[in-house]
Amino acid sequence: ATYDFAGKTILITGGAGDIGKATALRFAANGAGVALLDLNETKMADVARELAEYNVPVATFGCDVTTSEDVAKAFAGAVEQLGRIDYVFNNAGYQGLFAKTDEYPEDDFQKVIDINVVGVFHVLKAAAQHMRESGGGAIVNMASYAGVVGPPNMLAYAASKFAVIGMTQTAAKDLAPYGIRVNALSPALIGPGMMWTRQTELQAAVGSQYFSSEPKVVEQQMIDSVPMRRLGSLEEVANSVAFLMSEEASYITGFNLEITGG
Ligand code: NAD
Repeated sequence: ATYDFAGKTILITGGAGDIGKATALRFAANGAGVALLDLNETKMADVARELAEYNVPVATFGCDVTTSEDVAKAFAGAVEQLGRIDYVFNNAGYQGLFAKTDEYPEDDFQKVIDINVVGVFHVLKAAAQHMRESGGGAIVNMASYAGVVGPPNMLAYAASKFAVIGMTQTAAKDLAPYGIRVNALSPALIGPGMMWTRQTELQAAVGSQYFSSEPKVVEQQMIDSVPMRRLGSLEEVANSVAFLMSEEASYITGFNLEITGG
């Protein structure tokens, strides 16, 4: 479906990444102004250039979501440049290292929690404050199917994405009185993209009973576990973000939408 987002604006964290970019292009194509936030300013500038052809307002902000001051500054800048923020896609994330539970590195566990949990909290809080003032809006928090069923060798990532789904349920209750809907999105195997390639390589490197030590074989093993026998595309993820933000989803809040091909 195509939604009319003309005159609306979306703020996207992780806007330089694969899913953030696909979602930015989708919303711009449907008329929305876009604010991108990311650590990677070079890649973000490339995405902004691609967005230019849609003739919608575009703003970019170098921002580390683990720092609440950075997030507050970027929100203030986005409001200044775009007028208001109707939708927030709370999407920046880090997959973590791949290791068995008894060997999972402590510093990487902390890093995953800092980005995927504390970072998501900072953005959720800033979005709630803005939307409470502006009279409402919609937020989509990026979780993962790893936040529904813990996959092997991804202890920190599973913990962080279970947390995102929990925060989504609580925030949906807290913010319903202000006309703010909060939902979560849980893709499973999405590609092509950085995370898909990285997970096949790193699952192979761990050497567990679940996957081959050959990345190409791991790809096939993973695809064979999907009833639809294919990866989901970045555009299919963007479609789900668009649906959850749209008026078609006006009575949906606190929900975790799984995008898994079965
Ligand atoms: P990606 O690595 O291409 O994009 C993630 C982006 O987040 C990057 O541009 C990165 O620079 C940015 N980022 C990381 N840490 C940041 C920080 N501290 N502050 C600001 N920006 C930061 O990956 P993607 O596939 O586009 O993933 C986007 C989201 O989707 C993530 O939350 C990920 O966990 C989730 N997800 C992805 C998949 C998948 O298969 N691709 C599946 C399920 C969930």
